[in-house]
Amino acid sequence: MDSSHWFNLARIGEFAAWFMGTMLYLGMGITLGYHRLLTHRSLKVPRFVMYFWVAGGYLALMGAPISWVAVHRLHHQKSDQDGDPHSPRDGFEHALYKWMFTMHDRQPPEEVRKQVTDLIDDPVLKIFGIDHSAKQAQLCLWVNILVRVGILLLFGPVAFVANLLASITVFWSPQFVNTFCHLQNHGYRNFEVRDDSRNVPWVGLLAMGEGWHNNHHAMPRSARHGVRWFEFDITWCTIWLMEKLGIATEVVRPSMQPTSAVSVARAAAVKARDDGAELVNKAREEGAELVKAAENAISNAAAKAIPTPSEANAP
Ligand SMILES: [Zn+2]
Ligand SMILES: [Zn+2]
Repeated sequence: MDSSHWFNLARIGEFAAWFMGTMLYLGMGITLGYHRLLTHRSLKVPRFVMYFWVAGGYLALMGAPISWVAVHRLHHQKSDQDGDPHSPRDGFEHALYKWMFTMHDRQPPEEVRKQVTDLIDDPVLKIFGIDHSAKQAQLCLWVNILVRVGILLLFGPVAFVANLLASITVFWSPQFVNTFCHLQNHGYRNFEVRDDSRNVPWVGLLAMGEGWHNNHHAMPRSARHGVRWFEFDITWCTIWLMEKLGIATEVVRPSMQPTSAVSVARAAAVKARDDGAELVNKAREEGAELVKAAENAISNAAAKAIPTPSEANAP
């Protein structure tokens, strides 16, 4: 093999290392840092470890961590109902990316503050913004551009291109979770919950274990999203390892399995509640129709009982 082949192999290896490294660090920056650590408090880690993971999410263009948490907590409170920031019920493109441009009006600064009382005083996190202003988005964009320029200057074009492609892939992963994992004709459900959340295998793998989204909506605080043997969750594997190494403590585990008595009872309760709500609505509609019919009958009867002027004047 001549030297040019070695050169090419080295380049391929360099590309692969940068691509995979970026995918893992930035991807878990979102899933482990922004999502499971900050938003759901699924585990505890020393502060510098938290900053390490959160920095990965910031470098995936996720914007201010505090603002991201405020959006995601709102999503869990209003999933697929009025007020959900990015439900596909409001349109596919809205769930995929258009929602980002609505947050400034949808969640003003005082609403953000209400969602993140536990994070708002963090001296580092608050530097990056606590609202949905253009200013915090621009800051994130400039930091991201500067870091990529640094990679280009320090490590060369192969590292730069690999990092850029992986960053773009990672940026879209949570958008795919928001969209495909709330579409009723995709994936499957392990748990009956009041929203449309689904487990979608290809999103599960791409988004570092976050595509097992129905499991997550059923047990939002769990640090583990994949609960069946085939639901691979690399973020959970990393948290598990961090716990074994003594870096992570108070790790919240799933409270139920898809086949457990608790989940079956819960599914039955959800179904009974939904059936009950349907019956109440039906009774309400039928009641309204009956009231209307009765009112019509009364006004008809009244019209017949009151004599017309000609009848009244008749001898
Ligand atoms: Zn969701
Ligand atoms: Zn969540």
